Amino acid sequence: MRGSSVARVLLHQSTEMIRELRCGDVFEGCSYVEQGSDIRELMVKFTAHLREVHHVDSLTPELRIQAMVAVRQARPNGD
Ligand SMILES: [Zn+2]
Repeated sequence: MRGSSVARVLLHQSTEMIRELRCGDVFEGCSYVEQGSDIRELMVKFTAHLREVHHVDSLTPELRIQAMVAVRQARPNGD
């Protein structure tokens, strides 16, 4: 089944891509970094962090955009 193995490789690559969200890009001076392959999960965890550490009860559209822009692909091998 050549077709299914190609699909598996593509799926593997997409799940292997780790993204990271540095809180410092949104809140200057914060060293919190969240990593994950699922962007929705990242946002959920980041929202929880904002609530706990920065006392932000609800993500404003502006904050949400800043967080989305701050998400980047993690480089496991360093820069
Ligand atoms: Zn933070």
